[in-house]
Amino acid sequence: MQRRSFLKTVSAAGLSAGVTPVWGIPSAPNQQDSGSCDAKQASPETILLKDYRPKSLHKVPITQVPKAKFPIVDMHSHAYAKTPAEIAEWVKNMDEVGIEKTILLTETSGQDFIDVQQKFSGYPGRFEIWCGFDYTGYDQPGFGPQAVKALEACHRLGTGGVGELHDKGKGLVNEKVKAFGMHPDDARMDSLFDRCGQLSLPVNIHVADPIWMYEPMDHTNDGLMNAFHWRLDNRPDIVKLSGMIDILERTVKKHSNTTFICCHFANLDYDLARLGQVLERHPNLYADISARYAETAPVPRFAAKFYEKYANRLVYGTDMGFDKSMYRTTFRILETSDEHFYEHDLFGYHWALNGFGLPDEVLRKVYRTNAQKILSSRGSRVHA
Ligand SMILES: [Zn+2]
Repeated sequence: MQRRSFLKTVSAAGLSAGVTPVWGIPSAPNQQDSGSCDAKQASPETILLKDYRPKSLHKVPITQVPKAKFPIVDMHSHAYAKTPAEIAEWVKNMDEVGIEKTILLTETSGQDFIDVQQKFSGYPGRFEIWCGFDYTGYDQPGFGPQAVKALEACHRLGTGGVGELHDKGKGLVNEKVKAFGMHPDDARMDSLFDRCGQLSLPVNIHVADPIWMYEPMDHTNDGLMNAFHWRLDNRPDIVKLSGMIDILERTVKKHSNTTFICCHFANLDYDLARLGQVLERHPNLYADISARYAETAPVPRFAAKFYEKYANRLVYGTDMGFDKSMYRTTFRILETSDEHFYEHDLFGYHWALNGFGLPDEVLRKVYRTNAQKILSSRGSRVHA
């Protein structure tokens, strides 16, 4: 699937409001041409940053990774495929690139959850469907028991976990209800998170957004090209990134019998040392690496050290559709030591990427073993 059709799919799935895609601003149809349309007049004075598409000229190794080195459980994806043909294509792609199983974070409950389950039921064991919370009535006295009942219903149907919960600073939101003002550490959420622990349902949670989205949108913003589209610097009414990490920590600490997976490195991809401290404080917390490849690949040595130190706490994820080239780009970043390459079609930033060259024992854990540990802790009840 091409990038443009992927973006279309994402928006058709209605995910754009809650999820944080980091592939950035959709290209103009002839964007590729616009940078080079009039070579004579092109100059640093006239080339727009949005059209800047540098090509690497370094004669350095370029490694193709058609298939992952070890089988993978993709812990962060969504129900992008809409038709039986698309689902079949997805499974074929998974087979070709080495994805054994994909977790679909649906954020749904009730009939919507059943619908997704049925849609993907033709491939037992290849997909796992996770539900969401029902925030209906969150602002009414007595919120809780009904939401727990909805969760229990999904549990009986065989949900594998809960997610992706979203709080970008204003409160927990999903497609149906914007629970503004209710953050994950709110007392109103206690019974839900505790029930997840009792039912052995892991919770995937998205807090905040990448740091560049909070910074002034000016010539100093390193991530400007992607950040502008998802900007939060003009939102004085939200809890900022650091405050959201505090909220995450209070939540994870309060519900110590519940397993949490903070997705996208908890948006601490720019401050992995802090994420390391957070992980050390909370043994019931994992981080998924989805949709933060572009943010970490510019700092490959620091990132690789982080992967090695916290290899037991990180799980693979994508969150970027199901195109084969997308999977292969993630393998190239994780597995190879390639340097200074670009993936303009996949990521909205204009940063050059570098591989981490992770050792086999780290890859095995991040690709599969840690995920298996989380999934197997639920017992044999769960089915796709
Ligand atoms: Zn996601």
